[in-house]
Amino acid sequence: MPAVPVLYYHRVNRVDARLGITPELFAAQVRALAAAGWRSLHTDELLAGLAGQPLPPRSLLITFDDGFADNLLYAFPALAAAGMKAVINLIAGRVWDGPVRAEPAPGEPPLRPFDRANKASLAGDHADYLSTAEIKQLASSGLVEFGSHTMDHAPAFRSGRAADFALSESLHWAREMILGPGFLPGAPLYETGSAAAVRRFAPATDYAESLRRAAGLSDWKQVKETGKDEWRRRLLKAAAELGPAPGARETEAEAATRVRENLTHSREIIAAAASRPCRSLSWPWGHYSRFGLAAARDAGFETGFTTETGAVMPGQDMLALPRFRVSSRTSPTALCGLVAALRFKPLARAATLFRKSGEIE
Ligand SMILES: [Zn+2]
Repeated sequence: MPAVPVLYYHRVNRVDARLGITPELFAAQVRALAAAGWRSLHTDELLAGLAGQPLPPRSLLITFDDGFADNLLYAFPALAAAGMKAVINLIAGRVWDGPVRAEPAPGEPPLRPFDRANKASLAGDHADYLSTAEIKQLASSGLVEFGSHTMDHAPAFRSGRAADFALSESLHWAREMILGPGFLPGAPLYETGSAAAVRRFAPATDYAESLRRAAGLSDWKQVKETGKDEWRRRLLKAAAELGPAPGARETEAEAATRVRENLTHSREIIAAAASRPCRSLSWPWGHYSRFGLAAARDAGFETGFTTETGAVMPGQDMLALPRFRVSSRTSPTALCGLVAALRFKPLARAATLFRKSGEIE
């Protein structure tokens, strides 16, 4: 079997330049792949190929992470026109009971850019994500398979080492997600990873206060009143003097149980929404770990995807398969060249030399 490249996307729309590509570019990429003889597979076909069944010589997978509604509005028409299949990995906790939507007409509220869509979703408004009815419609086309991207795409602290402090008004969403609303300015941000891959660490609550005193702050309110770089420097120095925060870290068995339960729950929700089994997952931020892989296997997943670069070949861990990200800078011609090169195992193997490993302890 030649190596099988797996592409990954997030959004296809006109509002999200960072995480998305335009519908026009996506359609041109898909048309170019189809014209060059590429066929896209679902994960059961990939598994059959790895088990020795013949695959069409130019086979690849097209995957999407997060499950945004624009996958239906703007990606699906291009896939359907080219007869190409795709796998959409859903954040199961963001699947909601909404209608099947059409492209917003001029004057209608458009889709929101990522930061606003995500913030709204954390507050319970999942309108930028696919609804159950939309998932059912996509699944019944036969072109779209649904995988899991966990229940919640949650980040977690994984050690007591303070890596930074909440000193900016616009805190990265993942950090805000851990700290919760109403966090104190200057609150320590400990080393973080995907909750599906790390053992959770709960820092002792009085550590932040010790840090405040060691940094010479009489009150957290002071942090707002003076330059944040000065406070960051003082807090980092205080953290270096105090050492890592004491606290409780999950055991590997506790973390494995938590991840298995999260993934099992996501499978049930996705299988019910799609009326089809959910066999595949993609790891949030591409982070995975030994116990996380075992938990995914125990939850019944057969394939899993990371964000490491490369192509799928026999002999790899089926729950940590490489992919590569297609961005708004990838021209249709460049994309065809890239997938053609990745088909050849030596080139696919060479690509893994440049990967940024997502394995995390
Ligand atoms: Zn994601």
